[in-house]
Amino acid sequence: MTALPVLDTTILPESSEDHLRHEIAAVTLLLNHEGILGYSGHVSVRLPGDNTFLIQPVDHSRAELRPEQLLICNLEGRRVKETETERPPGEVFIHSEIYKARPDVRAVAHFHHDLTTTFSLVEGLELTPLKNHAARWASGIPVHHDPAHVNTPSLGRGLTETLGAHHGMIIRAHGQVIVAESPRALLMDCIHFVENAETFHRAASLGSVLPLTREELELFAKAFRRKKHSMKLWNYYLKQGMAKGVIPPEWREALQLETAKS
Ligand SMILES: [Zn+2]
Repeated sequence: MTALPVLDTTILPESSEDHLRHEIAAVTLLLNHEGILGYSGHVSVRLPGDNTFLIQPVDHSRAELRPEQLLICNLEGRRVKETETERPPGEVFIHSEIYKARPDVRAVAHFHHDLTTTFSLVEGLELTPLKNHAARWASGIPVHHDPAHVNTPSLGRGLTETLGAHHGMIIRAHGQVIVAESPRALLMDCIHFVENAETFHRAASLGSVLPLTREELELFAKAFRRKKHSMKLWNYYLKQGMAKGVIPPEWREALQLETAKS
C-alpha cells in the first residue's frame, strides 16, 4: 500500500452539525437527480470530533431526504442515540471502516451506477483516467473482488483494505465508493468519476482508447485547485437543483450558498 495522502487542512470543513446535515441532504438529492446515487446509494460526512458521522436511514427515499432525518452513527456503525427508531443502511460499515482507517477522509459516497460497474465485468478491462478531471484517480481505481453486500464490520474492513490510500474504487458486480475531504468535494468527485467512466465507454465504442499519460495527469493535478473547482460545481448543481425544485429554497442560508463564488 502506498502512503496515506497528505491532509489538506485548507479544505477541511469548519462546519456545524446543522450545516453538515444540510450539505449531506443536498449532495444526496443532487446525486440522485443526476442519476448517480440511485435508490440504494448513501452519502455520509464525519462530524467534528471525528468519531461519529451522519448517514441517512435505510428506508428513506434518496429523492426526498431531509437534514433532520439523518442519523448519527459511531465508528462501529451503530446509532449513537438509542432513542432513534430508524436504522442506518445495511452497508453502513463501508463508511464506518473507512473513517476508522483513513483520517484524511471526511465524506464518503457509495452508489450502484450501472455503466460504471460494467468496468468490473469485462475481462482485461481497467477503468483509468481518460478525462483531465479524473486525475484525482491517477494512483489507480482498485476493484474489490467480493461482490457481497458490505453488511458486516469484517466485510467493511476488507473493502477498506482494497481501497488503501486511493480516492475511489469499484466493487465487482456491485457499485462504487468515493472518498473526499468534504461533502462539496465529494459531489464534485462523484460527478467526475461517473463522467470519466461514461467518456471511457463512448471512446471505447469508437476505437482504441488513449488514456492520459502519467506526465499529463501529474501536470494537471499540479495546476488543479480542488477547493475552487468544487465550489464551482457546488454553485452550479445547487442553483440548478433549486431552479428545478430538487433543493428546497429555504436551505439557502444553511448551505451558505450566498458565500459561494462561481
Ligand atoms: Zn452497495
